Amino acid sequence: MQICFCFFSAFSMAAPTLLMRVVASAYSAAEKAATIVRNVMAAGDLGIVEKSGANDLQTKADRLVQKSICASLARKFPKVTIIGEEELPPDEVDEELIEDGHCEEILKKTCPAQYTGIKEEELVIWVDPLDGTKEYTEGLLDHVTVLIGIAYGGKAIAGVINQPYYNYEAGANAALGRTIWGVLGLGAFGFQLTEAPAGKHIIVTTRSHSSALVNDCISAMNPDSVIRVGGAGNKIIQLIEGKASAYVYASPGCKKWDTCAPEAILHAVGGKITDIHGNSFQYNKEVKHMNSAGVLATLRNYDYYASRIPNTVKQSLVP
Ligand code: AMP
Ligand code: MG
Ligand code: MG
Repeated sequence: MQICFCFFSAFSMAAPTLLMRVVASAYSAAEKAATIVRNVMAAGDLGIVEKSGANDLQTKADRLVQKSICASLARKFPKVTIIGEEELPPDEVDEELIEDGHCEEILKKTCPAQYTGIKEEELVIWVDPLDGTKEYTEGLLDHVTVLIGIAYGGKAIAGVINQPYYNYEAGANAALGRTIWGVLGLGAFGFQLTEAPAGKHIIVTTRSHSSALVNDCISAMNPDSVIRVGGAGNKIIQLIEGKASAYVYASPGCKKWDTCAPEAILHAVGGKITDIHGNSFQYNKEVKHMNSAGVLATLRNYDYYASRIPNTVKQSLVP
């Protein structure tokens, strides 16, 4: 008995692995990011800049959050590659933007065995500081998420999705905002996993980047209903909370920072995300940023939706 006890306590005292420390720090960085997103909105000056056009925006919140997350994680994990959406000048980052905390609860979880030996230089972190910027500028606040995806060996293995305005219409007593996180092989936390109604085809898709191709693909799936909301993070939340049965976007436009964290969380609960051809996404640091051949994601019944994609749609989307 004595030997067993010692073995157990030595085992439970094992230092957290690099991966779990990165996830725990990303969790806190995403919570700080959410505060920045809310503060910028409350201050009222969004500082909107058009990037490639009127449907591709950047605000002061996108800029500050990217600086905050990237600088905070780079300070703790200097050899990790961090790729953020926004192109920003390499300014000094204000100390007040740095988050040095981490989530203790995450450090208490056991790292899946296949990830215990990961080294810093083998990780790539994909940061979307504010997903759903268009909706943020239009006051559709619960469409907004902050996305931190963690990749190893080209695969999305862990992710954090913060929803800064979760519950914002639920009244003053409801806690504002939430953080969802997950690790492949461990699971996903911070929400109630729910399946969409059986036998119904409820499609979630873009609100601000529709096209004839996007709509043709959805029609071919014979949907019972179509939900049009902003953000890739928000659409994956619709899947894991049973509001929609498939996320269908037959268009280029989504990038690796949009899909990395959502993919890790969806895969951690047994879902599937690919491009429209069924190819999985790669997240190594050299990869092309654009997901040129669109997105198809489901929690269940992936094969039904994949089988309904018309060849004409596939031919229009080159990976
Ligand atoms: P949406 O579903 O339209 O909200 O898009 C999900 C994510 O992909 C957001 O970060 C969008 O900015 C990005 N995205 C999708 N399509 C486009 C596009 N045509 N141009 C620019 N960004 C896009
Ligand atoms: Mg985005
Ligand atoms: Mg963004």
